[in-house]
Amino acid sequence: MTETPTFETIDFLEENSEKEVALSHLRRVIIEKTQAVFKRIQGEFGNLATRRDFFSLLSEIWPENNGRRVKPEYYINFEYAGKLKKIAVIFGDSSSADKPIFESDGISKRVFIRLDSINSHWEKRPVTPEGVNVFLENVYHEVEHVFYPGHDSLDDSDLAELIGYYTNPGEIRAYARQFAHTYSLHYPGEIFDLKKMQALALESGDGRAINYFNSFADPEKQAKYAEFGDIKKTHETIVSLTERFVDHGLTGKYRGALKSTLAGSIGS
Ligand SMILES: [Zn+2]
Repeated sequence: MTETPTFETIDFLEENSEKEVALSHLRRVIIEKTQAVFKRIQGEFGNLATRRDFFSLLSEIWPENNGRRVKPEYYINFEYAGKLKKIAVIFGDSSSADKPIFESDGISKRVFIRLDSINSHWEKRPVTPEGVNVFLENVYHEVEHVFYPGHDSLDDSDLAELIGYYTNPGEIRAYARQFAHTYSLHYPGEIFDLKKMQALALESGDGRAINYFNSFADPEKQAKYAEFGDIKKTHETIVSLTERFVDHGLTGKYRGALKSTLAGSIGS
């Protein structure tokens, strides 16, 4: 029997091509299916759809589901370490988030994607392109946690816990993936430039991005928060990871691998 990887044994900085291929596949399936739903919401509902509409459209487009009306699970098959795996994708509010459940091969059986990231009042407010973008950022973030566990819960008012959250290796990795997506959306075809990322963080007003790329680079703040964690190292780590992920997106490194590895092995 193989031991379940623990937080200490997982290499959060690794570049593991097999995991990259699997992650890329998971992201692609979730994005393709949900984008198809958003398109129909735009075309048929004038952007104003209820959550029920979202789930009934999604279940139509994604027939691999458990048929539940409340918190349905949608399934994705993928190959990892020579075995066919199945993961459940669940959509809901962050307040009722399901944590990943890790198996002995170090993969979570489920991933939870926030729906309130699109729109906090589905019945009253239209689905906007901005909301869909935040949703996509969340997909990039949460799928990363399938292999790299993050911080459980967060009390923003507790400084020690907040720094613990930011310096958590799984969160650093998940945010790097998320911000690489954001960066490439704003600077398509461009290599990573920290100055541009910092400007983008400030422009978007995203507190997480501002802390990781701007505030944590400030020597005064590094000294001030040293008792809670090494935010200098955190800043340097997220910069190098985000750069790597932006780079991968430019070269299509693992997209090519996805085709050759998964072709024929996964049924539709
Ligand atoms: Zn996270």
